[in-house]
Amino acid sequence: MYNIAVAGTGYVGLVAGVCFAEVGHQVTCVDIDESKVKLMKQGISPIYESGLEELMRKNYEAGRLNYTTDYKKAYKNADAIFIGVGTPEKSDGSADLTYIATVARQIAETIEKDCLVVVKSTVPVGTNDKVEQFIYDFLPHEEELITGNDFGVGKKIRVEVASNPEFLAQGTAVRDTLNAARIIIGTESKWAEEMLMKIYEPFNIPIVSVNRRSAEMIKYASNDFLALKISYMNDIANLCELVGANIQDVAIGMSFDDRIGSKFLNAGIGYGGSCFPKDTKALKYLAEQYGYDLKTIKAAIDVNTEQKTKLYQKASKRLITFNGLKVAVLGLTFKPGTDDLRESPSLDNIPLLLDQGASIFAYDPVGSDNFRKKYSEGKHKKGNITYVKDIKDALNGANVCFIFTEWDQIKAVKPEDYKKYMKTPLVYDGRNIYGVDYMRECGVEYYSVGRPISKGNLSIIPKKETDFSGTR
Ligand code: NAD
Repeated sequence: MYNIAVAGTGYVGLVAGVCFAEVGHQVTCVDIDESKVKLMKQGISPIYESGLEELMRKNYEAGRLNYTTDYKKAYKNADAIFIGVGTPEKSDGSADLTYIATVARQIAETIEKDCLVVVKSTVPVGTNDKVEQFIYDFLPHEEELITGNDFGVGKKIRVEVASNPEFLAQGTAVRDTLNAARIIIGTESKWAEEMLMKIYEPFNIPIVSVNRRSAEMIKYASNDFLALKISYMNDIANLCELVGANIQDVAIGMSFDDRIGSKFLNAGIGYGGSCFPKDTKALKYLAEQYGYDLKTIKAAIDVNTEQKTKLYQKASKRLITFNGLKVAVLGLTFKPGTDDLRESPSLDNIPLLLDQGASIFAYDPVGSDNFRKKYSEGKHKKGNITYVKDIKDALNGANVCFIFTEWDQIKAVKPEDYKKYMKTPLVYDGRNIYGVDYMRECGVEYYSVGRPISKGNLSIIPKKETDFSGTR
């Protein structure tokens, strides 16, 4: 078992650290945010992630997991340091590597023994090479770096950088980490490859071992492919509205083809979150740096940008103005199961509604506190926002309702309830939760994505099981 340090305790770092401890490694999670460290020491997770707190408490009590802001103590004797700090988007679309550089420098100035530095954060192709060079540049003078297969005599410590991109999805992060479809490792030496293989051995998950640049590219290629799939379905959904087809029926029909698969075929209000938006832009930027026009990903970005406010545009035409209207907003996070608001469609639509003078009553089971930090309760521009704990309080007397996130609590609202509680039962559903016909039968004026007609025509006749008994 290894002595592991993890830099950054966000969705990636904390979950990775906890899962490493769960399989028996000795783990120290490092964060610069003292308030987070204080919470974690009390067994409280700073992020909302199902099953995480139980494992945090279990492994902390077992003495396998610790939290600190003191990076020197954590890095000094670590066998491996995993970096899971943020790589947010810069204004030009490129990835901001400031946090990575800070950690690299802290590592260089601290380590006292051979150490594998593993970059889990999503970074542009070639970054791991630079991180290794950066650490080399900042290593104290008397200590020398040995890279790749160059392990030579007379060198004091060996530091190498490996790529190990993360594929967890927020909302199912712990499950995804312990039962990942694959682990990607990108290394430049046997030493690094073998150590990473040993660290991951207890997980019993297929490991794909490639070079560092391929590993970095696998991450972007995977995320951007999924973003492209979503944008493709949204594009087709928009066409369905024009030609009178139903996107959900179309998706079901497509899903029977193994080459297409059944996942990521849901049309809706566009992708959000901390990954797809920034990773599509970062790959486009990277391609531009090499003089290459990445047309498919550009299209995915464009479709998504328009998709996020499509329902708002539709509602604007129907209502002329939102001024003085009570607007119920159901769902603020970018998807269910997380309190993360990054790039959430709510952040595109709510400012538009406030600019128009809407009086918003917003409901989200876990995201309201984070949203309140951006938009405090009260007046903003011409409008104002109130956060409610009960969906009925959002719907009560509302003139229009927008659904931005498909939380179970929101899916549980019955079509009849919109009619019962709203002043005018007018619903714009960005997640295609309800049957078009049923909403209309319940007296709700209902608009969703790519479904100008009901799903009523769909029927699937299963394959008949052949019965060979009695044929002799
Ligand atoms: P996050 O913003 O939730 O967390 C980053 C953490 O790093 C913060 O707690 C911050 O305080 C801490 N930090 C910053 N500087 C530090 C330093 N010098 N030392 C120690 N801690 C420091 O980030 P995240 O969502 O976990 O994403 C991290 C990386 O993983 C990104 O590159 C992201 O693209 C990638 N990724 C994220 C997901 C996801 O679902 N969130 C999935 C796969 C990959």
